[in-house]
Amino acid sequence: MSTSVLIIDDSVTVREQIIRALESFSLFTRYYEAEDGLEGFKRLLSTPVDIVLCDLEMPRIDGFKFLSMLKSRPELQDVPVIILTGMNDQERKIKGLEQGASDYITKPFDHGELVARVKVHLKIKKLQDELKHSNELLMELSNTDHLTGLFNRRFMMESLDKEVQRSIRKGGELSLILIDIDHFKQVNDGFGHLQGDAVLKKVAMQLQKELRRYDYAARYGGEEFVAILPDSSLKESVFVADRIRLAVQKTRFDGQVANLSLTVSLGVACFSQEYCSTVDGFIKLADDALYRAKTNGRNRVEFHDPEGAKAPAPDASASGQDNSSEQE
Ligand code: GH3
Ligand code: MG
Ligand code: MG
Ligand code: MG
Repeated sequence: MSTSVLIIDDSVTVREQIIRALESFSLFTRYYEAEDGLEGFKRLLSTPVDIVLCDLEMPRIDGFKFLSMLKSRPELQDVPVIILTGMNDQERKIKGLEQGASDYITKPFDHGELVARVKVHLKIKKLQDELKHSNELLMELSNTDHLTGLFNRRFMMESLDKEVQRSIRKGGELSLILIDIDHFKQVNDGFGHLQGDAVLKKVAMQLQKELRRYDYAARYGGEEFVAILPDSSLKESVFVADRIRLAVQKTRFDGQVANLSLTVSLGVACFSQEYCSTVDGFIKLADDALYRAKTNGRNRVEFHDPEGAKAPAPDASASGQDNSSEQE
């Protein structure tokens, strides 16, 4: 793995001395140099490094200004900076540490001490990077449904809440599709739970394939899924829902379930404060539509129809209220 260091000092001699010391221990594969804080900062923005050694006293942008520039960039917060200070520079050492330096080395420096300190900070940086990576993995795991790899219900509820707030603030259309596998119990009963799990995974894959990059697919529970479609009108989302329906209907499974023909029922709703004020209310609109898809024969898409809901509805009270999408 390549490891790199950036040395910022206005003295060529000091830079050369440092590079020689570090090279003799083969600590780095790449050495970058800069003459002052600004050049160093620009270098950091274009080339990430593992550690920075920075002189305090330099023309134009000095070490302190360099440290404060680093603070303004979140992506550079974790880069350790060791400042190079003069012998009796107690106050400036403290000021440098307070401004975000990880450590200091006093000039003229001892080669052994320089290398030892650099090694310590490289080690700390490595541990911090590993910890950050583990935290990211943990975060990903805690948002993921372990069987299907889709987002889980908790993450979906949080995301939906954020999207609803965003839609209220910015006015973009936001749609929701609830998807429920038809007669899934029969799959479990006929082929066993493990085969049932494999079927769920494949349906999840099909669902994901039909969505855009900024849509979210989640497992809502058991054999139910949810798709959140930001910036999508009701019409567009009903279209997507029907595409999902057809994709599942066409899906061929492997092994024991090879001959299974599976279908899903879908309910679609588009968020509007006129019909729902909460996330739960929004989900209920889609859920009611899904219920209609089930009672109207399954393998179909139904949606919450704002026009139908607005009308005085003399005969819309009948259970067979027809606001379904086109069926094949
Ligand atoms: P409907 O068309 O009305 O939706 O009928 P259904 O059989 O799909 O619905 P029902 O709610 O009766 O059954 C859902 C089944 O899903 C029952 C449950 O055992 C099964 N199930 C839920 N979670 C899992 C899972 O993680 N793995 C497997 N294999 N089955 C699951
Ligand atoms: Mg200097
Ligand atoms: Mg169900
Ligand atoms: Mg079902």
